[in-house]
Amino acid sequence: MNEGRGLRDLRGFIFDMDGVIYRGNRVLPGAAEFVNQLRRAGVPYLFLTNNSTTPAGKVAERLVGMGIEATAPDVITSAEATAAVLAAEMPGGRALVVGEAGIREALVDAGLTLTDDHRAADVVVVGMDRQCTYARLRAAALAIRRGAQFVATNPDRSFPAEDGLVPGAGALVGAVEIATDVRARVVGKPEPEIFRYALRHLGVAAAQTAVIGDRPETDVQGGQRAGLRTIAVLTGVGTAEDFAALQPPPDWIFENLTELHRAYFDEGWHAL
Ligand SMILES: [Mg+2]
Repeated sequence: MNEGRGLRDLRGFIFDMDGVIYRGNRVLPGAAEFVNQLRRAGVPYLFLTNNSTTPAGKVAERLVGMGIEATAPDVITSAEATAAVLAAEMPGGRALVVGEAGIREALVDAGLTLTDDHRAADVVVVGMDRQCTYARLRAAALAIRRGAQFVATNPDRSFPAEDGLVPGAGALVGAVEIATDVRARVVGKPEPEIFRYALRHLGVAAAQTAVIGDRPETDVQGGQRAGLRTIAVLTGVGTAEDFAALQPPPDWIFENLTELHRAYFDEGWHAL
């Protein structure tokens, strides 16, 4: 499955981060070497995260702290993708937001107007919000019942914290869905919209671009639905058995980025 042919035809990479680049605060084997050689070779790459609370610049700073070359434009967040999708569909639209600074700033930067008035909202945008109140959920539900669109940055039900798994954006999306009987349109992984947005940024055709991820449903099946090639690594959540059981399986499975680095760059590879 891991022969170099095909793999070496790839001309762009989209990295999941947690379980691929790092785990907690520890950078994973081969991550810095592979990313930095992609940069030297002029192969475009992006980092993709469903996180809608942390601005791209902060994510890039964290990567740089791990020895990985990254700048804010190399990082695509679900907040940025959501804002771009809405800016294209409803320029200047009024958004009622359940979410933190990351999504609020992204929407304003994209030209949307924020409103707290459920009667004025064209769209309700729900993301992770650690200060979420009943009043905010109430306004969101009323706006949707009045006909506002309902968009979610990402569907992640939970995420790991020190004490265990804690509610994620998906838990808040679920609350609004239950209150309104309306299903949210989701922009983040595993839905194709965030991958399509990343692809436009990358400027490489889908068939020549691979998403590199550790989660079978999110990264691999999400990437497949967006028409991308897929590379699974075994440094995170998914096991070799998990990936082999997928129909279809990922295009390639590697132990870690060191193995991918070897297969992609070693003999037979020519600089672009
Ligand atoms: Mg991951």
